[in-house]
Amino acid sequence: MVTSIHGTPVVPGLAFGPALVTVTDVSPAAVEKYGDGGFTDPDDALAAYDAAVEAVAEGFRRKASAADGATAGVLTASAGLATDRGLRAAVRKNLRAGEPVLTAVDHAVEQFVTVFTGMGGLMAERVTDLRDIRSRVVARLVGEPEPGVTLPDGPVVLVATDLAPADTAGLDPALVLALVTERGGPTSHTAIIARQLGIPCVVGATGVVAAASGHTLLVDGAAGTVEVDPDPATARERVDRDTEARAELAHWEGPGRTADGHPVKLMANVADAASAQAAADGPVAGVGLFRTELCFLDRDTEPTVEEQAAVYADVLAPFGKDRNVVVRTLDAGSDKPIAFATHPDEENPALGVRGLRLSFTDHGLLERQLDAVAAAAEKTGADTWVMAPMVATVDEARDFATAARERGLVPGVMVEVPSAALLADRVLAEVDFLSIGTNDLTQYTMAADRLCSDLAHLTDPWQPAVLQLVEMTAAAGRRAGKPIGVCGEAAADPLLACVLVGLGVTSLSMAAAAVRPVGARLGTVTLEQCRAMSRVALAAPHPAAARDAARALLPS
Ligand code: PEP
Ligand code: MG
Repeated sequence: MVTSIHGTPVVPGLAFGPALVTVTDVSPAAVEKYGDGGFTDPDDALAAYDAAVEAVAEGFRRKASAADGATAGVLTASAGLATDRGLRAAVRKNLRAGEPVLTAVDHAVEQFVTVFTGMGGLMAERVTDLRDIRSRVVARLVGEPEPGVTLPDGPVVLVATDLAPADTAGLDPALVLALVTERGGPTSHTAIIARQLGIPCVVGATGVVAAASGHTLLVDGAAGTVEVDPDPATARERVDRDTEARAELAHWEGPGRTADGHPVKLMANVADAASAQAAADGPVAGVGLFRTELCFLDRDTEPTVEEQAAVYADVLAPFGKDRNVVVRTLDAGSDKPIAFATHPDEENPALGVRGLRLSFTDHGLLERQLDAVAAAAEKTGADTWVMAPMVATVDEARDFATAARERGLVPGVMVEVPSAALLADRVLAEVDFLSIGTNDLTQYTMAADRLCSDLAHLTDPWQPAVLQLVEMTAAAGRRAGKPIGVCGEAAADPLLACVLVGLGVTSLSMAAAAVRPVGARLGTVTLEQCRAMSRVALAAPHPAAARDAARALLPS
């Protein structure tokens, strides 16, 4: 019987090939031989540490300059983390306390790991980077090559416990058929880079390292499954069919609609002017989510209204006057800390003062941002909508709508908190549209941190409870005659997109690269088929059954 391992699907696509299990650590023999490095003066040991760190950082910078987009950003961030002054200070303190240099580095890194883990969210995901930096610094100190992935000549399925940015960044999609890791969630670096490279990817696949060595694997990046030693002929046939189907998708040019002509607005999620321009060049009906906070991650102080207006205008402009852009007001806090807005030291930041809640104590922050959006809308003439994140009450929706309308902007709110879905009729009486953020709606419905890979089976938008809240929200939209979008990652899953349309969602917003596969899939099903898929998904006991039941109803 073929062993099948389940993980979290990250990048769709089928791949079949021999497994290459990578080990990314320094050899224990070299570490033992190095011992305490022979330093008698802690300052000499610190100088050796500095030289090793600089060499590691330089390696990251070199790779960054040869990469682009998200990959370059990830590598530059790793270089910054390697040379972090706080980390160096911790190493120096340990050295002065008499620790040998390798132990001093180890303890300093573990101290940072504890801090990052405690912060949760995106910071916790940087733990892999920290440990990778430690391995590299140790390798440099003991005189070994830095650990990393060494690819063979032929194509492989790369398997690892976890992959560091530097391992994934240089990957050649011609040699790496798929990526499978035991750790990591959908927002880990492995996931980000696999998405950018278009390599089928499954993360959180517990047990794959032990099962894969010396075997061939069939990876299904849409279903999140890894089959060990499947029948080669059948596996190849499935991969060929998948490759053909994906090639066809590349030609989809919109507009979004089902096979029987039911229109569905397919929109892009953007983060800045560059992603907006790239999205505008493709077959998208506009922007369903502009994550404004991502423009200011590196700012210590709040940008002025004029600065903000300039940034927003650059995002609005490429969509002209015909394609609307939904600007989300700052969703700072929790996994997106912003120096000038976030409340530090919260016990539980995901349930703390994030998103719209920042305006409870600093109303001016929201007002200034809305002024800037209005100025950008006026300058560009763009059809500009605004929406607030993390809305939990009808009063919040009303206050936001008033502030937006005073500035001539079309107001809406996100449905990310279950209370907003439960009160969708009343919320819709206040605003002109709703946009369901399935990432957070799933997190809050299932009480499971969206970045925790151990809980990936719970943080799955196919959970029947989540689908039921989507259905309630869409039904309220139908009653009010107002649009209901989905802008979480769920919208980018072509199968789930059909289910969402069947539930009554009127627009889907996703990474621009996902628009073609989603549009092409929707074009193969009728609205009635979408409805049938949504019924079986809602009735299924768990996400895997929901996927299977919905998939079984796709036309062959
Ligand atoms: C969501 O929660 O689904 C969403 C789109 O917002 P973000 O992922 O930025 O929190
Ligand atoms: Mg959210």
